[in-house]
Amino acid sequence: MLSLIELLQQLIACPSVTPKDAGCQILISQHLQRLGFEIEHLPFGDVNNFWARRGKNEPLFVFAGHTDVVPTGPVEKWDMPPFEGKINNGLLYGRGSADMKGSLAAMLIACEKFITHNPNHYGSMAWLITSDEEGPSINGSAKVVETLKNRNVKIDYCLVGEPTCEEKLGDTLKIGRRGSLSGHLIIQGKQGHIAYPKLAKNPIHLFSPVLAELLQTQWDNTTNPEFQATSFQISNINAGTGAGNVIPDILDIKFNFRYSPVTTSEKLQKMVEEILKKNNLDYRLNWLPGGGKPFLSYAGRLRNNAISSIKEITGIFPNTSTTGGVSDARFIAPLGTEVIEFGPCNRTIHQINEYVSITDLEQLVLIYETLLKKMLLNLK
Ligand SMILES: [Zn+2]
Repeated sequence: MLSLIELLQQLIACPSVTPKDAGCQILISQHLQRLGFEIEHLPFGDVNNFWARRGKNEPLFVFAGHTDVVPTGPVEKWDMPPFEGKINNGLLYGRGSADMKGSLAAMLIACEKFITHNPNHYGSMAWLITSDEEGPSINGSAKVVETLKNRNVKIDYCLVGEPTCEEKLGDTLKIGRRGSLSGHLIIQGKQGHIAYPKLAKNPIHLFSPVLAELLQTQWDNTTNPEFQATSFQISNINAGTGAGNVIPDILDIKFNFRYSPVTTSEKLQKMVEEILKKNNLDYRLNWLPGGGKPFLSYAGRLRNNAISSIKEITGIFPNTSTTGGVSDARFIAPLGTEVIEFGPCNRTIHQINEYVSITDLEQLVLIYETLLKKMLLNLK
């Protein structure tokens, strides 16, 4: 049997900053091969991905996830080295320990235990792994899903091992995610001496009433009880030459929407453009690539069995949530797959000194194993 901690330490020792995989996928796929999975490496561009399947029967249960991690930030600020997986006080430190190499290790141990005890289970199991979740997400899960779709592979159930819990392991299960849409707006003014405003056009002043309107706009006119309302936020705003006596030439603004499935990116784009046009601004607007559509997965066997597995192992009845950033589940759900996301606590993800609790990971193995039993030992 594999050791959970050793496996996680080996994964953390691979410095797989997006889009690098740095050997993680070979490590995982070798273990899966030993468990009877057929491995297919599916690289696209500079991104490594793999699909591994064990069995041909329906239903197909898939574990999905990513081996890439975000950059460490200043290494000298870490109390522990980011790529070693050192343990202190029951916490295992390292970049990716919570997002999401801890879940990958827990999935692998859960699979090994389940297959060893139940080699002739119903249905089949597969893994869909990418090294481009934290980056542009173009050559990762999206392309693998496209490949599977072209082959008519039907994925019935998919668990994405993103770190979803907040305070305690078991408190949160994700059943959907908001969409994300970003724009870059430049308001054109006319530079001039600040003492002669009639000879210039101040783009900051021109934009001010428009900003007020954007902030007051209600972007959804209906609400979905599973989602927060659509929100508009400015992330960057810049103008000015640095001099105190010059009216600037342009105002440069970057903004982002997080939106629920009651609207679409097309509708939001149209609404923004109407507001800009109505105010007679001289502007340039670019919609930026790399957003994501929202998704909401239906409540079926997977969600119900995940909730009861979490309850059995942790004693906690999880909240179902759709908050947080985008995840690769958005590519899988449109296949008609029932998708959930469940993994360890996310309070240190992407931070300096990212860690995962070893007790939580041991419980996570039990939750994943219990879920496999409920999904593949009886099909009710
Ligand atoms: Zn992640």
